[in-house]
Amino acid sequence: MLKINQLHKSYPIGDSSLHVLKGIDISVEEGEMVAIMGSSGSGKSTLLNIIGMLDEADTGDYILDGLPIKNLTEKKAAVYRNKFLGFIFQSFNLINYKNAIENVALPLYYQGIKRKERIEKAKFHLQKVGLLDWADHLPKELSGGQKQRVAIARALAANPKLLLADEPTGALDTKTSHEIMAFIQSLNDEGKTILMVTHEEDIANMCKRIVRLRDGVIMEDKKVNQVRAEQYV
Ligand code: ADP
Ligand code: MG
Repeated sequence: MLKINQLHKSYPIGDSSLHVLKGIDISVEEGEMVAIMGSSGSGKSTLLNIIGMLDEADTGDYILDGLPIKNLTEKKAAVYRNKFLGFIFQSFNLINYKNAIENVALPLYYQGIKRKERIEKAKFHLQKVGLLDWADHLPKELSGGQKQRVAIARALAANPKLLLADEPTGALDTKTSHEIMAFIQSLNDEGKTILMVTHEEDIANMCKRIVRLRDGVIMEDKKVNQVRAEQYV
């Protein structure tokens, strides 16, 4: 699914620079569910953003689904991003003035899918996250857990091969976090490959593999026995 070799990333600060990722090696196979852990500032989001083609590494190799990701034009990067990747964020990143179904349908618009099919697909995915009855509600009328469900439906709308999540439960209470994790686990049970950033140990243990970052270096990378989230909801 993806393979990364000796990845480095620095950010310029004034005349000097901050070396954030210092030689990352990681491979992820289809069907995996991986947690990237580490304290704040350890480089988790930077790594996820590079994997998600939202940012570029300085040096190193990144191959996604057989394709070397290097020096792509903005346009090409956007095409691959839409085709391969779905994103979920801590802060949901929904569009405030669009209702639930319009939010879910939006990525399909960028894929050139006709309106009728967009709405059909968006309905299907809203149904899947249990929110079909909320289709015409605006984000401000939804709870945090419901907003994250809409965001998940949006991430799934274009049927991506890889789902990337940056602290998907970071803004949710414990019970809602577990509901969201149970849903993400059910997606992985169906075969979806999932890579998520978290700094919460109990959330990481609901994945099947934990990669620990410290100061831009992988300290540990091991398979774990997945704790099922549905027992807590
Ligand atoms: P994490 O997600 O693990 O908390 P990040 O990857 O967001 O860590 O950030 C790692 C380090 O890089 C932090 O010190 C952060 O301040 C810095 N950083 C992140 N993005 C930028 C940027 N665009 N410009 C400058 N520094 C950045
Ligand atoms: Mg982060």
